[in-house]
Amino acid sequence: MIPPRKRRVALLGSTGSIGTTTLNVARAMPDRIEIVALAAGNNIEKLAAQARETGVRHVAIHDASQEAALRALLPDGVKIHTGPDGLIEVASLAEADIVLVSIVGTAGLFPALAAINAGKDLAIASKEILVMAGEVITRAAEEKGVQLLPVDSEHNAIFQCLNGQHARNTEVSRLILTASGGPFRQLPANELAKVTPEQALCHPTWNMGPKITIDSATLFNKGLEMIEARWLFGIGMDRIDVVVHPQSIIHSMVEFVDGSVLAQLSRTDMGFPIQYALTWPDRIKGALAPLDFPSLAKLEFEAPRTDDFPALDLARKAGLTGGTLPAVYNAANEVAVDAFRAGKIPFPGIWQCVASVMQNHEVLASSSLDAVVTADQWARHAAKKFCEAMG
Ligand code: NDP
Repeated sequence: MIPPRKRRVALLGSTGSIGTTTLNVARAMPDRIEIVALAAGNNIEKLAAQARETGVRHVAIHDASQEAALRALLPDGVKIHTGPDGLIEVASLAEADIVLVSIVGTAGLFPALAAINAGKDLAIASKEILVMAGEVITRAAEEKGVQLLPVDSEHNAIFQCLNGQHARNTEVSRLILTASGGPFRQLPANELAKVTPEQALCHPTWNMGPKITIDSATLFNKGLEMIEARWLFGIGMDRIDVVVHPQSIIHSMVEFVDGSVLAQLSRTDMGFPIQYALTWPDRIKGALAPLDFPSLAKLEFEAPRTDDFPALDLARKAGLTGGTLPAVYNAANEVAVDAFRAGKIPFPGIWQCVASVMQNHEVLASSSLDAVVTADQWARHAAKKFCEAMG
């Protein structure tokens, strides 16, 4: 019998919500998953505790000023990598065969490209890097022959439903992303301006990091996911739809030309897509409980309120236009989310900021790395100015 394949994982963003869940998954299947490196932004206490538990020999901390304090918390012999270069070093380690990128925002882009160039498979939770540079990442992965494994639950669901088929396949008619609708699914439009950051940080079905939780409340999360799907599955934006499914039990669906639809269902636990990404192409019994169907009262579906939540239409425009516009959509949203969380702009200010910055952007058809990095920086500057003027 062929022994099961053990995956040696470098985990970038280990101290966050996805990182913590990934360590839970790894703990439940030590014969299949070995964590060989950890990386975080500045939470040295949590990073050091994770390093002691996993026994990794490599850790990276983005905030280089914390190196000495981190050293004092780590066992002897653990190498500390620092700054943006440190992330790239752990993403390229010979000891790892897969890199899971779960750094919030776009700081994971260069480490992800380094991992691909080093021939590692890439499990991607950081949707922002695919929105900003999807063409660059997918082309590099194809050239290097490495596998991109979606961790986002919707894309992992589609990956499972396609079961190795390509979405470009003429048998696939469309991809249907499900959305919970967020905490304000039923809030009247004229009350959205009164929404506070505390209210927006309460997600009805998922427990996640703060940025994605706000993105879920505005539906920008689903907009980002539409563009993410476009790159992960090589399919046109015109064949990617969104349906609101408040229970978050169906994680997404694939519709085929004969009208049949395949869906993937599970409880709302990111452990499911993380485990599948790290054990693919196998299915392994882990610690996660399956669905209890009789306890599910109902599964509901409704159309998204696109007039009141413009994030989806803006994403479609960005994805259809292509070039540098998706990078602008993403960067302006990141800045606007920070401004909203800091109390500088109201909730609708988030999409007003993104719409305005997109409107003022002179789109370049090229989506080369240089072009998207320049567009990202331009959009961050433009969005900051917009938020200052609004505040
Ligand atoms: P969190 O905010 O919980 O965690 C973010 C992680 O990124 C932390 O480990 C943080 O480190 C690290 N980090 C931040 N900046 C840097 C940096 N410059 N260099 C290195 N590490 C950095 O986010 P989530 O786990 O919720 O989300 C992470 C990504 O996964 C996002 O792109 C999100 O969209 C995606 N995702 C998340 C889901 C979820 O359920 N949470 C579901 C699907 C996708 P530190 O703690 O030290 O600041």
